[in-house]
Amino acid sequence: MDNRWNYETERPGEHPAQNREADRKMIYMDNAATTKTAPEVAEAMMPYFTELYGNPSSLYEFSDKAREGIERSRTVIAEMIGAKPEEIYFTSGGTEADNWALIGTAQAYAWKGKHIITTKIEHHAVLHTAQYLEEHGFQVTYVNVDENGMVKLKELEQAIRSDTILISVMFANNEIGTIQPIREIGEIAARNGILFHTDAVQAFGQLPIHVGRYHIHMLSASAHKLNGPKGTGFLYIQNGVQTQGWIHGGAQERGRRAGTENVPGIVGMGKAAERAAATMARRIQKERRLRDYLIWKMMKEVPYVRLNGHRSQRLANNASFCFQFVEGESLLIMLDMKGICASSGSACTSDQADPSHVLLACGLPPEIAHGSLRLTLNEENTMEEMDYVAASVKEAVGSLRKKSPAYEDFVKGNIQGRG
Ligand code: PLP
Repeated sequence: MDNRWNYETERPGEHPAQNREADRKMIYMDNAATTKTAPEVAEAMMPYFTELYGNPSSLYEFSDKAREGIERSRTVIAEMIGAKPEEIYFTSGGTEADNWALIGTAQAYAWKGKHIITTKIEHHAVLHTAQYLEEHGFQVTYVNVDENGMVKLKELEQAIRSDTILISVMFANNEIGTIQPIREIGEIAARNGILFHTDAVQAFGQLPIHVGRYHIHMLSASAHKLNGPKGTGFLYIQNGVQTQGWIHGGAQERGRRAGTENVPGIVGMGKAAERAAATMARRIQKERRLRDYLIWKMMKEVPYVRLNGHRSQRLANNASFCFQFVEGESLLIMLDMKGICASSGSACTSDQADPSHVLLACGLPPEIAHGSLRLTLNEENTMEEMDYVAASVKEAVGSLRKKSPAYEDFVKGNIQGRG
């Protein structure tokens, strides 16, 4: 027998027979981590790799096309959030936009005050930036959330001090999908004369956004969450907000973010935004139907499961659960064997052993937070896939619990379950 691996179809270290289940069609349920680049987006980008490769800063006519591609994207994106084109600054993604919003504001307004308010459930792009600022003389208040991951508005308002310069609250959470009361938070910030930034990486393209109506001064977004390319994002900065120059060098992005533009990426993000706006109503309706069915099925069929996040104020494509007596990592591996791509929380933390900071902030004990599973679907998923995913989760959870000493104790009545 030939024992060599076929690397095209098998994972190294696995026997072909063990991998048979994974030969089935892949079901991608990790759209909060990233999305498939839409064919029309890739098509729109292609000419900017091949024919229209001019540097947008060059003076000859050939480069006009690259410049025009960038400006078209800027206009599409600005229109989508009710901003002016010159208020959109292209970045390398959501992480950079968050860093710029926090650090840029802190530097520019340090004369006014050194206090920032954010929440305990932000993405690490905001949390680690806030911690960096704390190491550099700023003070940060991390506001609590309730059991559904909803920011406590009273606590947020009470945290405001005379030296508060910025409030940063995410639009929708990447792990549990909870949508925050952004308009109310914007009103609190406006009433108190404080700048308001929102990390809208999971919301842009998934929810209607209007920066004026919500009193948003800065907003971060990322193309790869809406079927656009990776490595491209933007920061909306309202005219008049004094964030300092972020990357120093040439005069690109009105002198605030230097460096030759990622023209294909920016063009792709513009196309992805256009596509997301045109399909939003239909897409959300379909995703919500699939998601609600999946949640219903999971709650009905799997014992000792908890739905994480708010029941109704949640992203249309997010279903997040905790399974008692189960290790999230083991569950992910078993689902992978069944061709299901899922995540235990944030993609950026999925290689860390600590339970999710978001679930802990929602008040879950670590042993329950460890058993988390995030399923984020897209409009291409089907009801049959939801059935398959629910059945696979049920089977995997059942077999993991059989190996769990804690579950055995629980069954014997030695410890209490948490339902
Ligand atoms: N903010 C949130 C809420 C996110 O979900 C992510 C990515 O998962 C980011 C920021 C980082 O965005 P990017 O991957 O474009 O750097």
